[in-house]
Amino acid sequence: MEDLHFASVRELRQKLDAGEVSSVELVQALEQRILAVNDRLNAYLSRDLEDALKQAEAADARLAAGERGPLLGIPVALKDLLNVKGQSCGCASKILEGYSSPYDAGAVEKLREAGAVLFGRCNMDEFAMGGSTENSAYGPSYNPWNLEHVPGGSSGGSAAAVSAGAAWLSLGSDTGGSVRQPASFCGCVGLKPSYGRISRYGLTAFASSFDQIGIFSRSVADAADSLGVIAGYDPRDSSSAEESVPDYAAALGESLAGMKIGVAEEFFAEGVDPEVSASVRAAIDACVELGAEVVPVSFPHLEYAVSIYYILAPAEASANLARFDGIRYGNRVEAEDPVSLMRQTRDAHFGDEVKRRILLGTYVLSSGYYDAYYLKAQKARALLAKDFEDVFSKCDVLATPVSPSTAFAVGKESKDPLNLYLADIFTIPANLSGACGISVPCGFSEDGLPIGVQFLGPAFGEEQILKVGHAYEQAHPQTLRPTL
Ligand code: GLN
Repeated sequence: MEDLHFASVRELRQKLDAGEVSSVELVQALEQRILAVNDRLNAYLSRDLEDALKQAEAADARLAAGERGPLLGIPVALKDLLNVKGQSCGCASKILEGYSSPYDAGAVEKLREAGAVLFGRCNMDEFAMGGSTENSAYGPSYNPWNLEHVPGGSSGGSAAAVSAGAAWLSLGSDTGGSVRQPASFCGCVGLKPSYGRISRYGLTAFASSFDQIGIFSRSVADAADSLGVIAGYDPRDSSSAEESVPDYAAALGESLAGMKIGVAEEFFAEGVDPEVSASVRAAIDACVELGAEVVPVSFPHLEYAVSIYYILAPAEASANLARFDGIRYGNRVEAEDPVSLMRQTRDAHFGDEVKRRILLGTYVLSSGYYDAYYLKAQKARALLAKDFEDVFSKCDVLATPVSPSTAFAVGKESKDPLNLYLADIFTIPANLSGACGISVPCGFSEDGLPIGVQFLGPAFGEEQILKVGHAYEQAHPQTLRPTL
């Protein structure tokens, strides 16, 4: 069983197709594992075993009828902000506690069509605001490699579950790094596709011009296969791209001959943990051994990324969260008049970080400050996107650290939100520009915490980042497992 828990989806696929294991058995094995570890991890907020077994039975029937597909019969865990009809979708917030979704998200529809089993709601920072999963209304999740440390965030539950052998595959969302950073903190693969690649329909909005669904997996090939299933145009999402979906698995190979990997020294500046820098540089050297060529590039506006993001993302969040007022959406606190009702509802049911973002966002959008903050940040966002344009005119992918540090101790950074914001510096640029990125495990710190290398590619350049991530991973497989 231990091997089954830590198998890749492709390994499970073979067993399912050969009839060595059934989807029902996978769900049962997964439930056992979750029961064994979740009290220590708090990775799952809820799950519906009965419903999952029904879905698994249907998948087994399709398998028995000879149907085959990359995710047929595979259980997938979802961050608690993706809508699945009949399942809770609380965004780890008191304001949506008890909310049951009336519809499936676009990506969820595609998972269902593919025969995946939608099992489990993963913990997260409330409304995806945070980088440690400490902002959940249901308590933090913990890092499987060291339970005193955070799993990263905001999709920390989804990452911790995959890393701990308590999910084979999970989905999260990445607005400023929330898939790549927890993947690097937990030692699994985290893919943030290009903006518009996967439908945002049914993904609870945080900052709509940044949000993108992302994938956690145990191998790059699994991420490629899963992307192929859930990517694609959806007319219900106005920013969904009408690009065809390539055969991502076909892009994977062993050699990197001819590939140009950009390295920008701005990503290795002071403040980056030396262990992280060394490990990421070693990963880049390994890619050179596989045939890639390193191209020095520069990213002059990196230093503004955090400021731009923390003006624009809260601005969008303040608008998106206005609907949770106890009247249109959300659990109500009754009061004498509608204004008091809304005020008390929002005061009682939003956590501190969500309130902070709403305040910040409302401030930068207010008349008198709009030009000085919001408009200026939009202009700076365009400059930063231009940095990417220049970089990708010289190379195929950009290799960087995912985060300046490894997973920090629970409670350490959360006291000072600004510290947490600053740590998003290497992941935010992709969201500001629509680029795609992947975090791939590349080593461990001396105290046994995972480190990730980030490969960034231009919008709709997923094939290149999957290719480099896969080749690196094949040459340097991650064999350690957390002991839980
Ligand atoms: N850590 C970032 C934030 O707090 C990113 C969050 C995310 O990607 N959802 O906003």
